[in-house]
Amino acid sequence: MSDSDNLIKLLQSKSKLVAMLAPSFPIMYDPKTIVSKLKNIGFSKVVEVSVGAKETNRQAVEILKNNPHTRFITSPCASFVRYMRVKHPDMMHYLAMEIDSPMVATAKIVKAKWPDHQPVFIGPCLVKKLEASEDHPDLNILVLTYKELDSTLQQLVTSNQQLVANSSFDLFESSTRIYPIDGGLTDSSGARNLLSPEEIRVVSGYKNCESSIKEFEQNKKIRLLDILFCDNGCINGPGITSSLPIEERKHKIIDYSK
Ligand code: SF4
Repeated sequence: MSDSDNLIKLLQSKSKLVAMLAPSFPIMYDPKTIVSKLKNIGFSKVVEVSVGAKETNRQAVEILKNNPHTRFITSPCASFVRYMRVKHPDMMHYLAMEIDSPMVATAKIVKAKWPDHQPVFIGPCLVKKLEASEDHPDLNILVLTYKELDSTLQQLVTSNQQLVANSSFDLFESSTRIYPIDGGLTDSSGARNLLSPEEIRVVSGYKNCESSIKEFEQNKKIRLLDILFCDNGCINGPGITSSLPIEERKHKIIDYSK
């Protein structure tokens, strides 16, 4: 059974569900109507994952502030974490696994606020399914890509259905809406106020992973390696079905963050 089928089953059984929309969602959906659409098909709550990204930032900045000599590699990218586990197990101690990814931080916030609800992450990433099932099974997060949400919406939304008007997010956060663009963590966390340019590296794209890990290993001045596996970040994730070029995707994210 696909995760889209799993979601349909949960919705039809009237389970209490919270949709957690990844910060790349404006590339795929109109921010003015997507919340209504999700509530119409049966979600009780709809929240922005940028809420959890703020907590991710808080944890990252705390480490940098409290440990002036610490050097670390960011861990929100589920593919990069798996790459390190396979290719560089000897460097896993640099990966800041104690920092919650935005998905995990949001699920924890959701669980604390609505303990009887199940979190459903909707985003651009297939590998988040593994992060949820392998690394955080206790949070019971159902993970769907936008592609899979589209399939769910096609099956459940009828053309004559009236949308709940002006539905707004139950939890939202504008300061971290740039997260899916490469460097989003560095740029939204305040890390640039704590570290000098020589101490920061922002990298995206699987082809650049190996060289940046080598550079991080050799250049001890680098304290923060902010890295994402997809070129240009999550705005180019495999679960996005959009013909928009990267620059337009970036504009959509930046416009929504204002
Ligand atoms: S950069 Fe790509 S692989 Fe990494 S979390 Fe984002 S969408 Fe997933």
